[in-house]
Amino acid sequence: MKNQPVCPKCNSTQVIPEVQVFDQGQYSDTHLKVALHEKPDAWLFKGTHLGVLKAWICGTCGYTELYLANPQELYAAYQAAISKD
Ligand SMILES: [Zn+2]
Repeated sequence: MKNQPVCPKCNSTQVIPEVQVFDQGQYSDTHLKVALHEKPDAWLFKGTHLGVLKAWICGTCGYTELYLANPQELYAAYQAAISKD
C-alpha cells in the first residue's frame, strides 16, 4: 500500500498513509519502534539502531501495513552484526 494506494486485501483505494503508531495507548508520545543491535552480546555500546514504524491503513477493511522510515540503516546494521560472527 505504501507505493500504490490500493488495499491488497479488498482492492479499496481508500488508504490512509503514514499514520503514527504508539506503543502505550492513544495519548502516549512513544512511537512504536524496532531495535537492531550490531553487537547484541555486548554489555554496553551494543550499536543499537532504532527504526520508527508508520502504518498504511485501508479505510474500508482496516488492513494495516507497517513500514520503517529508515530500512537501509537497519539493513546495514544487520549486515554489520552478521559479519562479526
Ligand atoms: Zn482493505
